[in-house]
Amino acid sequence: MELKLYDTLTKEKQPFRPLDPKDVRMYVCGPTVYDFAHIGNARPVIVFDVLFRLLRHVYGADHVKYVRNITDVDDKINDRAARDFPGLPLNEAIRKVTEQTEKQFHADVDALGCLRPTVEPRATEHIAEMREIIEKLIANGNAYAEQDHVLFKVASDPNYGKLARRSLDEMLAGARVDVAPYKHDAMDFVLWKPSKPGEPSWPSPAGIKAEGRPGWHIECSAMAWKHLGEQFDIHGGGIDLVFPHHENELAQSCCAFHEERMANVWMHNGFLQVEGEKMSKSLGNFVTINELLKDWPGEVLRLNMLRTHYRSPIDWTLKGLEESAKTLDDWYWVAADDNGGRPSSAVTVALSDDLNTPQVIASLHSLRNAAASGDDDRRSEFAASLRLLGFLSESASEWKSRKQVASGIDEAQVNNLISDRTAARARKDFKESDRIRDELAAMGVVIKDSKDGTTWEIAR
Ligand code: AMP
Ligand code: ZN
Repeated sequence: MELKLYDTLTKEKQPFRPLDPKDVRMYVCGPTVYDFAHIGNARPVIVFDVLFRLLRHVYGADHVKYVRNITDVDDKINDRAARDFPGLPLNEAIRKVTEQTEKQFHADVDALGCLRPTVEPRATEHIAEMREIIEKLIANGNAYAEQDHVLFKVASDPNYGKLARRSLDEMLAGARVDVAPYKHDAMDFVLWKPSKPGEPSWPSPAGIKAEGRPGWHIECSAMAWKHLGEQFDIHGGGIDLVFPHHENELAQSCCAFHEERMANVWMHNGFLQVEGEKMSKSLGNFVTINELLKDWPGEVLRLNMLRTHYRSPIDWTLKGLEESAKTLDDWYWVAADDNGGRPSSAVTVALSDDLNTPQVIASLHSLRNAAASGDDDRRSEFAASLRLLGFLSESASEWKSRKQVASGIDEAQVNNLISDRTAARARKDFKESDRIRDELAAMGVVIKDSKDGTTWEIAR
C-alpha cells in the first residue's frame, strides 16, 4: 500500500515520502477564535483528522506530529471584544472572547470525533519566534521597515506566486491590497504593524521603537517553525487559504531559512456550500457546528462530510444528513460492538489514494453486506475500518437510545401528555397517570414532580 497525496504546488498526486518516517510532521491552519465555528470550518478539521489517523495507522501513533494553531490576535477578535465587553479593558475583554471561543471550538470538534492535534500553539505565545523570523528577513534583504511597519518585499523572492500560480494582476486583485503609504510596492505585505492605543502590543523587531503586533501570515510561519522545524511534510487548510495566506507563509519561511521548500506537500480542501448556495449570514443559511449538533450526532456530520472527496466542493443538504443518519444507524447495528480485527485493506488502499473517502464508503457498504449475511471476519474488518475513520465511538445501544432522543420529540405533545397526567392525578386516577409517565419514558422523556409543578427533560 502506497500513500499518495495531491500537492497543490505541483498540481500532482505524488507518493508521500516523509522527511523522517519516525517523525512525520503536519501543520494545518486553525481557527481565528472570535465566534462559533461554522460547518465549513469543520471541513478541514475533519479531513485532516482522517489524514492524521491514517498517518498514525501507517507510521505508528508515536511517530506523527500534528500541529494546528489557534489565531488569538486579530482585528475581528478586537472588534468582538469591544462589542461584547464594553465595560472591560480591551486586553481583558479579548482574553474572555478567545477563551470562550476556544472552549466552544474544542467541544464542537471533539463531538465530530476529531482527535486533538499533538500541539495547538497560540499565536500570542510565539511572538518572539515571529520577531526572530522578521529580523532574519530584514537581514536577508527580503523585508524592510517603513513608518513603524515591516513589509515583505515580494520582488525579492523569485519563487513568489508559484503556489497560487497566478499572474501578478490576479494576485493584486486577489489580495485586495490597499495602496498604503508605507508600502514600497503594492504587492508587499505586512509582517508587523503598529498597535493602536489600547490594542494588544509587543516589543517590535529591532529597529522599530513603537510597540506593535504581527501580521496574520507570519504567525503560521513562526508556529510551524517552532514545532515542526524549517521544513516539514504536510501543510494543510481550506482552498481559500492558498492565496494570499499560504503563498505568503511559503515566501516568509523559505526566504528566512534559505530553504527550497517549507512543506513537501500542500493540501487544500474544497469549499462547502449549503443547499446549493454560498454560506453567508445575509442569506440566512449560515450554520454553526454547535447548532447542527443539537439535531444530529457528531458522527452523522462526520460521515456526511466524508461522502464527498475532500478536494471537491461539497453541497451540505438536509437530505444528505438524513441519508448519513440512516447509514450510520445501519452500520452501528451491523457492526454490533465487534471489537476485534484490523481495518480492511480495501479501505486503507482507498484512503491511501489521496483520501478517496467516497471509495472508502463504497468498500464499507460491501463489507457491511458481507457482515450482515453472517461473515464474522468481515464484520470485524468492517468495525475496525469504521474505528480507523473515527466512527463507532459509542456502543450500539448508546447509539440506539440517542437515536430515539434525536428522533424528534414534539414539545407540544409532551406538554399535552403532562397536563393530561396532572389532570389524571388530580382525579386520583393513578393507573392513567402512571401509564402516561411510561408513555413519556418510552419517548425518551423523563419527568420530575415538585411543588411548583412537573418539569421534564430528555433522558441521557
Ligand atoms: P477561517 O476561520 O475563515 O480562517 O477558516 C478556518 C478554516 O476553515 C480555514 O482552513 C478555511 O479555509 C476553512 N473554511 C472556511 N470556510 C469554509 C467553507 N465554506 N468550506 C470549507 N472550508 C472552509
Ligand atoms: Zn496559516
